Amino acid sequence: MATTSSESVKQLAYLAGALKAPRITEAAERLADQARSAGWSFEDYLAAVLDREVSARNASGAQLRIRAAGFPAPKTLEDFDWDAQPAVRAQVAALASGGFLLEARNVVLLGPPGTGKTHLATSLGIVAARHGHRVLFATATDWVTRLSDAHRQGRLPQELTRLRRYGLIIVDEVGYLPFEQDAANFFFQLVSSRYEHASLVLTSNLPFSSWGGVFGDQAVAAAMIDRIVHHADVLTLKGASYRLRGRGIDSLPSIRTTTEQTQG
Ligand code: ADP
Ligand code: MG
Repeated sequence: MATTSSESVKQLAYLAGALKAPRITEAAERLADQARSAGWSFEDYLAAVLDREVSARNASGAQLRIRAAGFPAPKTLEDFDWDAQPAVRAQVAALASGGFLLEARNVVLLGPPGTGKTHLATSLGIVAARHGHRVLFATATDWVTRLSDAHRQGRLPQELTRLRRYGLIIVDEVGYLPFEQDAANFFFQLVSSRYEHASLVLTSNLPFSSWGGVFGDQAVAAAMIDRIVHHADVLTLKGASYRLRGRGIDSLPSIRTTTEQTQG
């Protein structure tokens, strides 16, 4: 290697370090050979080098955000079997661009157990993380605990402000457990503080008409649903549980009992 070139390489390593962009050193050297043999323009070369740094940063940022989100399992849209839920395919495909996050739109996933609500909610969370948004995933019960703890410590407003910095909050399993009166109010405050500001993804096994019972207060539930669905995509999943596929629904103990009773 010529002296000037090795001097340049050293200087590049120093400059990349000063920019806190360490991948530039390696990419610059590796791509230089490719650029020379392929006759790239200076602009093409510079763009290719910077692209390596930027892609690596985005990928590691997304990885960090995905880890910090607290997903129960890393499920992606690529893992989803659309044959099981053909009716929502187009709706989900539209959401996959991440545009709903910029418009602070919400997504509500409704359907019986095992139809992929948590899977799709997680996948949308991963989409958000890849688009540079901070994400937090928790069950409705966990959110209520979190907000009531904050309230008890006199820092509910601060907690709600802090949560607004997250581009996406996922509330899984609204309706599996009924809430107390206080819980409904905390939840309402969470929904209000994000309204037209940042997105929520909610999942529930219950139709909206049953949410009043879950929240123990029809008026609070109605006000909350109003804000949630004002700018929202509501996806209704249907059919049998994906968990039970290939196992034969009739192998479930309760159903077998019924069958035996019918036969007997
Ligand atoms: P829900 O939250 O609606 O009860 P989950 O999303 O937890 O259901 O789905 C149950 C299991 O089945 C998960 O492991 C999930 O990844 C898987 N699953 C559900 N639907 C699909 C699907 N259409 N394609 C691939 N896996 C699915
Ligand atoms: Mg679930």
